[in-house]
Amino acid sequence: MPHVDNWPSEELPAGWAQLTDRESNSFKRELKKEIARKHVLFGRGLTPVATCMGCDEVLVDITNELTWALVRVTWRRALEKAPLPITTVSGQALPHGEMVLHTQSCVPD
Ligand SMILES: [Zn+2]
Repeated sequence: MPHVDNWPSEELPAGWAQLTDRESNSFKRELKKEIARKHVLFGRGLTPVATCMGCDEVLVDITNELTWALVRVTWRRALEKAPLPITTVSGQALPHGEMVLHTQSCVPD
């Protein structure tokens, strides 16, 4: 489960949807395929928790680090060349502002 105590009641910005466990596992498996050794998220525990409703940008809880990342999953189903999948690691607070900005400039896949 995400590290915020009040999840999932903490409001997601408009245009973002919470992932079901099944969807989360699907994204998690794909991230394992895509993330190469040189990627910033390599070797870190990842729990995808929400997705942009317009594209494959996912909000990821970095397990045991109390931080968040926004990741643009490519669905290549194979190892990507870092820095793909494009990733922004945030701090302890939900990156609400970045998520709103993303929605405003979202380019569907
Ligand atoms: Zn999007």
